[in-house]
Amino acid sequence: TDRLKGKTAIVTAAAQGMGRTAVLAFAAEGARVLATDVNAERLAALADVPGVTTRLLDVTDGAAVAALAAEAEAPDILFNCAGFVHHGTVLDCDEAAWDFSFDLNVKSMYRMIRALLPGMLDNGGGSVINMASVASSVIGAPNRFVYGASKAAVIGMTKALATDFVARGVRFNAVCPGTVESPSLEGRMRALGDYETTRAAFVNRQPMGRLGTAEEIAHLVVYLASDESAFMTGQAIVIDGGWSNT
Ligand code: NAD
Repeated sequence: TDRLKGKTAIVTAAAQGMGRTAVLAFAAEGARVLATDVNAERLAALADVPGVTTRLLDVTDGAAVAALAAEAEAPDILFNCAGFVHHGTVLDCDEAAWDFSFDLNVKSMYRMIRALLPGMLDNGGGSVINMASVASSVIGAPNRFVYGASKAAVIGMTKALATDFVARGVRFNAVCPGTVESPSLEGRMRALGDYETTRAAFVNRQPMGRLGTAEEIAHLVVYLASDESAFMTGQAIVIDGGWSNT
């Protein structure tokens, strides 16, 4: 319960799914957490959790990110979790869809890191965790054209950052989950029509025969956030129930 004692964390997309679960796990391990999201209503449900402060933040808004960096203390831990899953092939992806995915999935992380890294360097170090996916440079998943491209960019960016700042105490790692139960996954499965068939298809591509849970991902994120992973940087860690091993 004290693996993150004395540390501060900032989490994006913290109102639901893996971001929210990571906030709860960070706080349970003794961190003080600033939980941010665009969804004020869902964010409010975190406001009473001991150790957690909430703040509205749209990670596609450069001015809002700059304001956060000016007001908040530089964190020891930055978990960039925000991302959007576009469904479809290149033929379904017009330029607006491409730009939206790259803005939310990639440029948002650049914005957050550029704004917060100077303070982290002044503090003498920290850990940045970027949410990628196994659908990226790891595997080509069906109907994940711009999503896969954007998450591959997250991995490349993470590795470049890790190299540039390895000697200055800030570590950068990416997390690459397979299919994980989350509110947006539920929504995507319902949007595709026949819910049971769609769900079965998502489950069937997981060799373990089940989806992952946000808690399983949070265990990895806590490890990467903590000093237990002090010797690890620039890695894209796959946690996918064996999907990429088939
Ligand atoms: P989710 O998609 O259910 O929730 C995403 C959260 O992001 C929501 O609370 C939403 O309000 C917030 N958000 C949306 N736009 C935002 C913006 N502009 N600024 C700030 N917040 C914003 O949660 P999830 O499924 O756990 O996904 C979280 C991350 O994990 C995403 O980057 C996603 O691509 C990635 N991921 C998900 C899966 C999966 O199967 N669920 C697998 C691999 C990777």
